[in-house]
Amino acid sequence: MGKIRRVSGPLVIGEEMEGAQIYELVEIGKEGLVGEVIGLEGDNVIIQAHEDTLGLEVGEEVRGTGSILSVELGPGIVGAIYDGLQKSLTDLMKDSSFIKRGVKSPALPRDKKWSFTPKIKVGDTVNEGDIIGTVPETELVEHRIMVPPGVKGVVEKIGEGNYTVEEPIVWLKGDRETKELTMVQRWPVRKPRPYKGRLAPSGLLVTGMRIMDYLFPLALGGKAAIPGGFGTGKTVALQQLARWSQTQLNIYVGCGERGNEMSDVLYSFRKLKDPATGRLLQEKEIFLANTSNMPVVAREASIFVGITLAEYFRDMGYDVLMVADSTSRWAEAMREIGGRLEEMPGEEGFPAYMGSRLASFYERAGVVECLGAPERKGSITLVGAVSPPGADFSEPVTQNTLRIVDALYSLDVSLANKRHFPTISWLTSYSLYVDAVRDWWNQIDSGWENLRANALSILQQEAELEEIVRLVGPEALPERDKLLLLAARMIREDFLQQSAYHEVDTYSEPSRANLMMKTISKFYELTQAMLDSGVSVADVRSSPIVYKISRMKDIPHEDFEQRIKELWLEMESSLVPQKGGVL
Ligand code: ADP
Ligand code: MG
Repeated sequence: MGKIRRVSGPLVIGEEMEGAQIYELVEIGKEGLVGEVIGLEGDNVIIQAHEDTLGLEVGEEVRGTGSILSVELGPGIVGAIYDGLQKSLTDLMKDSSFIKRGVKSPALPRDKKWSFTPKIKVGDTVNEGDIIGTVPETELVEHRIMVPPGVKGVVEKIGEGNYTVEEPIVWLKGDRETKELTMVQRWPVRKPRPYKGRLAPSGLLVTGMRIMDYLFPLALGGKAAIPGGFGTGKTVALQQLARWSQTQLNIYVGCGERGNEMSDVLYSFRKLKDPATGRLLQEKEIFLANTSNMPVVAREASIFVGITLAEYFRDMGYDVLMVADSTSRWAEAMREIGGRLEEMPGEEGFPAYMGSRLASFYERAGVVECLGAPERKGSITLVGAVSPPGADFSEPVTQNTLRIVDALYSLDVSLANKRHFPTISWLTSYSLYVDAVRDWWNQIDSGWENLRANALSILQQEAELEEIVRLVGPEALPERDKLLLLAARMIREDFLQQSAYHEVDTYSEPSRANLMMKTISKFYELTQAMLDSGVSVADVRSSPIVYKISRMKDIPHEDFEQRIKELWLEMESSLVPQKGGVL
């Protein structure tokens, strides 16, 4: 036990702290604020406080806890709203509208009983990672209770029925003693949870966003960044991902962004239903809120708490998505701490370790073969928003992130100005997961890869033609190029544009996206033949089909295939070459 020597913003210097360990959690002052030791100098320690240090006084005591920043893992996490330190905000918010300092609110409810069904029997030998039983945590998520890493033994006794998280459910006879297991494990957040082996990302993360699913696919187990200037749609994009992605569990981390956006997310989840099951989306979501009014230091904690929760559900054999808004706010917190520590700053004042710290987060994405029996695979897909000041992508956080991720969704301010949403640029975004999702897409349509390449090429050619159009106007272009511009416009406006607020179009199944793209491609094919026979692009443009294609988005999901079939019949009968044309 020591005492406070100095307080500097979120940093507290403690003295007479011999025996303190790096990353050890400490309790600071009368209120017992949570802090983490980040530096040792003799008997002095440098502590970053995860709570507001206002009012702390020199000489107040600092207590070491002997433990490091950890999360509590067990039933009660799904649907929870936590702060950056996994304190339940649902409970705290019942007492007061704001969060008090020093309040200890357990991550998992202590009084709630969960119905435990064992999956093993007395006499079985169990090892780390083995699933010993299940709890129906929500209608959408079955919580698989696992033997914690490092534990093994022979089952002596096993419970069945209703238990709180603190009551023992399994008794294991080990080499020396009998160990009681409850449904809870703890895990230090900075340490990746163990697994048997790593596998390459594969299969599509179905997001319901056409530009992602179709043009720049993200694989399950992939890592991606969404950089964009202010107001370009980062938050909306991450919210859409957290809502609709067809993963078994989604984690939304609000890191240093505005609190009202967080309440928007929370509010919307109370009513939205999962398209696959019709259940409330909240039943497969975890929310972590470390908003701009909360302590800067806890931003990093919220990211690592989030990824550790993700790993825990991955270990059960699930596909998990985690989104973080925004990793720039976390990097800014590193800069603030670094500045106060008077460390040698790197680029633009960010500490030199910023890049490796970001990497240590993204590297926890991936597909793994999980520990234990039964054999299973799990994945974590990570998507981080990056908020470069002035939308200048050459700044250090964006650049460091680009080195780490394998898919980039770059948001374009000029598209935001034109109200083209999502503002993901088709010219500067990329995905290195095309090979990883090919088999997945082939099951929907073996033509995907070609159509995708064609669409990208049409958009690319449009960008090249734009220069000429600027100089001489569109009418000076040859007819073929004019038609290409029409096709490109269709791809942009009728396919890529997708409003998050459109009742039907907010979520688009990949099969639907595929039919939409095929329809546009069919239109282009038929009208090219018309052009060859002497029909003018002006005539093509005036076809009612053009309007009908632009309204594909409004067609309800249940009527979609039928209506598209009808549209194709109409295209085939009306988009025909001119008789006696100049062939
Ligand atoms: P950022 O987080 O990048 O600052 P937001 O995500 O808050 O930007 O988006 C700003 C505004 O842009 C939103 O309030 C919304 O009006 C509009 N917007 C963004 N994305 C979409 C979308 N996919 N569909 C419709 N509108 C959008
Ligand atoms: Mg935002």
